[in-house]
Amino acid sequence: MSSLRRSGVPAGVANDRAATLATAGSLLFPTQALWSSMRRHHSDRRGAGTGGFLLFVRSFGRRHASHDQSCGSERGILTTLTPADRVRGCLLGGHLGDALGAGIEFLGTLDAIRAKHGPAGVTGLTASYGGVLAACTDDTQMTLFTAEGLIGAARSGSSDVAVEVYRAHLRWLDTQSRRHPPADATGLAAERVLYARRAPGNACLSGLESPDMGTFAQPRNPNSKGCGTVMRSAPFGLVHAHDRARELAEECTVQTHGHPTGIRSTGLFAGLVADLVAGVSLQAAVGRTLDAEGSGIGARETHDALARAVRLAEAATGGPRAEDVAAVGAGWIAEEALAIAVYCALACRGDVVAGLLAAVNHGGDSDSTGAIAGNLLGAAYGSQALPARWVAELEALAVVHRIADDLIDLIDH
Ligand SMILES: [Mg+2]
Repeated sequence: MSSLRRSGVPAGVANDRAATLATAGSLLFPTQALWSSMRRHHSDRRGAGTGGFLLFVRSFGRRHASHDQSCGSERGILTTLTPADRVRGCLLGGHLGDALGAGIEFLGTLDAIRAKHGPAGVTGLTASYGGVLAACTDDTQMTLFTAEGLIGAARSGSSDVAVEVYRAHLRWLDTQSRRHPPADATGLAAERVLYARRAPGNACLSGLESPDMGTFAQPRNPNSKGCGTVMRSAPFGLVHAHDRARELAEECTVQTHGHPTGIRSTGLFAGLVADLVAGVSLQAAVGRTLDAEGSGIGARETHDALARAVRLAEAATGGPRAEDVAAVGAGWIAEEALAIAVYCALACRGDVVAGLLAAVNHGGDSDSTGAIAGNLLGAAYGSQALPARWVAELEALAVVHRIADDLIDLIDH
């Protein structure tokens, strides 16, 4: 990690910085060859209209990537972002989506949400969990602990990253059974705001409560593909480049969920985040997930869900639609949660608020789909694209900023 340097790289030129770092063997960015390919493809792409952008998704994916910001630039959003902007945006966006969905996760149907919050459903922050505004639920909690495990592994040079992440998740588990931090706690375990039980997933709890760490050979909850692994795994892509992010995310998935589709969806999500942080456009990064090689039920179910999401997003020229989200699924299971987030992120075409609201206003696992969509939108468009008035209210805002600072510090050193 210490070999990773940003000095001498022009500020505000994310792709140039990434290319420079790639030659230095960075954890965070793709290879020089990949970036050269991206630039070539971007040059080829210039002059194309903005319509039918998802036609490019598949061709981009086959070629693995492109630096294309048409989605963001359509809305006048920043087109030049630093990796730091994207890392912070990913974590803040995840917390924001989590908070927007927190109060409606268990209402059961979109009609029930509309009956309570009006015809448009939730249109802003609400109170949940006994009156907490913009709550930090298990999705954000576990994401933060995932990040802490990865940060600790990077700083210590640990060769077994999965163990470090597992230990961090055991610290999260401890927050679910205590009301206050232990007196000698440090790091996230010392953060009072995280000691709150916010509907954690059963597989996450039982997997971590098992006497030993789950492995590929002996996964915990081998039949479970709940979305609890996807929703916590964005940080793998904030620390590592695509292949390593995916590999580590999959290895850590089986600590709580062993179904092949959960493993596959989580790995692809981590790789997707890694590509976004590296400056790959949302369309191109999704294209890469669509074209990922693989066989078996995990690859098939994940691909089918993502392909459906992309088809629907392509047709949703007026922005994301509730009926499309329902057609993708409810988000309780991994591939549906990932696909809903991808649909909303693509279909909003840079309108981040529209994407976040579409990701929560449905009858399923609103806070998890909101968190995953928020991770993607924040990584794609950066922290400044998130509505500041909402971000300021986030329950665990200070903790998220501290972890984002630590992640960004990894880039700097
Ligand atoms: Mg939750």
